[in-house]
Amino acid sequence: MEYVKGKPYFCYKVAKIKQYRYLENDINCDLLIIGGGIDGAIANFFLSKKYKVVLVDKGRFGMACTSCATALLEYQLDDFAKDLQKYMIEEEIVLAYNMGQGAIKKIEDFINIYGNNCNFACRPTFLYTNSLFSVRKIKDEYAFRAKHGFECKLYDDKNNPFPFPIKCGIFAENGGCEFNPYLFTKMMIENSSNQDRIYENTAITKLEKTKDGYIAITNFGEKIFCKKLLIATGFNWEVLGKSKLCERFITYSIVTSPIKNFSWKDKALIHDVVSPYHYLRSLPDGRIIFGGEDSSFKEKPINERKSNKKYDKLEKDLFKLFPEIRNKVKVDYKFCGCFGTTLNNLALIGESEIDNNILLFISCGANGIINAMAGVKVIEDIIEDKYNPLIKLFSPKRKV
Ligand SMILES: Cc1cc2nc3c(=O)[nH]c(=O)nc-3n(C[C@H](O)[C@H](O)[C@H](O)COP(=O)(O)OP(=O)(O)OC[C@H]3O[C@@H](n4cnc5c(N)ncnc54)[C@H](O)[C@@H]3O)c2cc1C
Repeated sequence: MEYVKGKPYFCYKVAKIKQYRYLENDINCDLLIIGGGIDGAIANFFLSKKYKVVLVDKGRFGMACTSCATALLEYQLDDFAKDLQKYMIEEEIVLAYNMGQGAIKKIEDFINIYGNNCNFACRPTFLYTNSLFSVRKIKDEYAFRAKHGFECKLYDDKNNPFPFPIKCGIFAENGGCEFNPYLFTKMMIENSSNQDRIYENTAITKLEKTKDGYIAITNFGEKIFCKKLLIATGFNWEVLGKSKLCERFITYSIVTSPIKNFSWKDKALIHDVVSPYHYLRSLPDGRIIFGGEDSSFKEKPINERKSNKKYDKLEKDLFKLFPEIRNKVKVDYKFCGCFGTTLNNLALIGESEIDNNILLFISCGANGIINAMAGVKVIEDIIEDKYNPLIKLFSPKRKV
């Protein structure tokens, strides 16, 4: 089955992750992480400091959905706080927003220690509408954030600082950050403390339960004996059998050629709230990445004709937003990939319904990477049997 398609911008023309060997003998560990995308890489970096961790990927690290992530990293969730109150109480939504802010700070701390080799930058966020129908929703969201002390400004058509029309929008000065997700994955993997227990081209094809954990069997028949498994396979969870973990969609992105002397207020990460929604940000080489137009994921190859229609629609909508660049740029990259959603917009992180020794680490929603960054502590607290209020919000056993 295909989970990504096209020409992903982020892993093109960048220094590749060093090639790791495949597993050639039986080994044992406390925790086996299956999947070395950005989620597995984050989990491996933090958890290998404390436990004996093995990381495997069936292919090369970071080349699946990670290579497609637009990497708008924000504390806000996909839905408005008011709509999320069907699934979380007010305090839990505030906790989730604070979790997002904490995760952004954690990324910044990591960059300060290991260097900025992934084009990291702090950015404001701008969530807006140009439709009168959504103005009330934006204003309610602004009121929610103001009530709970999240600093932000409300713009409308009279004080709009952006070069496109809006009816209303929330600008959060410290709302987010951006990076190259492939290069961040590379940094996480190459700086982790278990370099001798990291394997590429090592697929897990079978899991056998034992009395004190699991045996994971690779495509070459090697055995990995572990106490716990961490499933970081992204939205390809076939290793667990046919179970459906959450709803899956395809989201589409285009990247323009570099544009000289063109930008917008503070290079904010921008989302609109139309349906289907759009998101965009600038790239360090002066390009714009523009995405959205989500469609539901079918268990068959990604339809090329449909994808091309989506890319055309994105191109049209981008030029509608910024008519002044229409004759100055072309689209250099087009790609799409699978992502998952849940009712409360949060990841599936924690003990699985199948068995408590199978931990899921599957980042869902438009904010998956932020969830993964915060979710590592949840995994640690589960392993050490400590209280963490996020355990409940991330639990794969909740209604998703
Ligand atoms: C177009 C697009 C835009 C996005 N934009 C954003 C965004 O702006 N912000 C954000 O936070 N998120 C965004 N996302 C979501 C983000 O990409 C995901 O949350 C994230 O990449 C998931 O990472 P992952 O490591 O779980 O999955 P993947 O990158 O898919 O990695 C899973 C890995 O598991 C391996 N694997 C699978 N099965 C096995 C097996 N049996 N044995 C061994 N290895 C196995 C695969 O080879 C793969 O490398 C976007 C997604 C897409 C598609």
